[in-house]
Amino acid sequence: MSRREVDLFVIGAGSGGVRAARIAAQHGARVMMAEEYRVGGTCVIRGCVPKKLFVYAGRFAHDLEDMAGFGWRVGEAEFDWLTLVANKDKEISRLEAIYRRNAENAGVEVVASRAVVAGPNTVRILSTGEEVDARYILLATGARPALGPAIPGCELAITSNEAFNLTHFPDRILVQGAGYIAVEFAGLFRALGSDVTLVYRADKVLRGFDGEIRDHLEAEMTRAGIHLTPGRTITAIEVINGGKRVTLSDGAVVEVDDVMLALGRIPNTAHLGLDTVGVKLDEVGAVVVDEIGCTNVPSIYAVGDVTNRINLTPVAIREGHAFADTVFGNRPWTVDHSLVATAVFSEPEIGTVGLSEEVARALGRPIDIYSTSFRPLKATLSGRETRTFMKLVVDKESDVVLGCHIMGDAASEMIQLAGVALGLKAKKADFDRTIAVHPTSAEELVTLR
Ligand code: NDP
Repeated sequence: MSRREVDLFVIGAGSGGVRAARIAAQHGARVMMAEEYRVGGTCVIRGCVPKKLFVYAGRFAHDLEDMAGFGWRVGEAEFDWLTLVANKDKEISRLEAIYRRNAENAGVEVVASRAVVAGPNTVRILSTGEEVDARYILLATGARPALGPAIPGCELAITSNEAFNLTHFPDRILVQGAGYIAVEFAGLFRALGSDVTLVYRADKVLRGFDGEIRDHLEAEMTRAGIHLTPGRTITAIEVINGGKRVTLSDGAVVEVDDVMLALGRIPNTAHLGLDTVGVKLDEVGAVVVDEIGCTNVPSIYAVGDVTNRINLTPVAIREGHAFADTVFGNRPWTVDHSLVATAVFSEPEIGTVGLSEEVARALGRPIDIYSTSFRPLKATLSGRETRTFMKLVVDKESDVVLGCHIMGDAASEMIQLAGVALGLKAKKADFDRTIAVHPTSAEELVTLR
């Protein structure tokens, strides 16, 4: 039998891979895409989407508490974890089917198998052993949770992958880490009723974020009853009656039902055949690419988390799209990685775009800082102790807004539009000229003095 030939073979059907495959096929390319797990990748199957559904679940608990101040009396409310998990699974299966259908409708052949690079223009499908000739190969294999150092009992810990499918609700959970995933899961489990301990080696959560945002989030997490445990790591985990005993680096012992590690993510480049063709990796094993995603092997490209640039779904989607337009659509363009707005779905949530005050100062720029911290209107009647924080970092000479940082309800929604403004190089005077939308939290952004 003669070998099959395609224009593009995509390895990995996550956000970046699916977008690239679909657009390339729409440009007329013959495309195959292999996926060893489920179509949709981390974001859809065990990342952003299920996480946000769980965040919503936790917010209902807050709403139930907040209702009384607005005159509502409700009876005893009960939360059922397994219903949430089952409904989440249904929604993810629905989305997975849409992702698959969109790819197939565009003419992509989706192969349910692990696939590896067997040559600069050859991919081997492991389930059948078939080798396919490909004019181009796109690596879109994403990343997986880092498991950290091999301490005694480390195999007892879970990661976000398992947290989405726990068969019991963790009444007591210890989360290690202080990045996006750790603070999001700490917040959502606390809102759902868990007793949460957050252990992290740094002095503050969310390294790299604006310092005041970090302070304000820590204050809110403490207020919510999360046990913040900075400057420490886990040194051992053991099983005890119906739970786990966790020893920390300062000798303290914490007893919990589950231990979750959120220690960053590792690019999926092992056992992919990359060494056989000499694809260059960096020190953490990420694929090294140029601005259009090309590796040092001209027929092999990579997009998304496997390249460890900005590990966010919308970035991977853009990278996949730019690759397909450039290579197959005769419409070359590149992704601007310089000003990416992002949200952390902590409690309360955070939206951020542009430079933090610390980075702007380190660049030696004269800057002005405008900030406010206030009790949101809803919290007045609900009686909830929470504050919203907003901050603009402004270039003193040009008046251009360099950074916008928000913590509070709907921060993720606000930051999307702040991203548009910063992308247009809006000045503080432009914010000031804009008439407020009242009564909102967002209006504070245009009334900062
Ligand atoms: P992050 O890189 O954000 O955070 C990793 C955390 O683990 C840091 O607190 C780090 O500490 C800590 N850590 C790393 N190694 C060790 C170790 N050996 N011992 C103790 N602590 C350690 O990774 P996440 O896993 O939280 O998330 C991965 C990526 O996924 C994010 O960077 C983000 O790009 C993406 N993501 C985006 C989301 C969103 O957009 N809302 C949601 C979830 C994930 P230290 O700070 O001291 O280095």
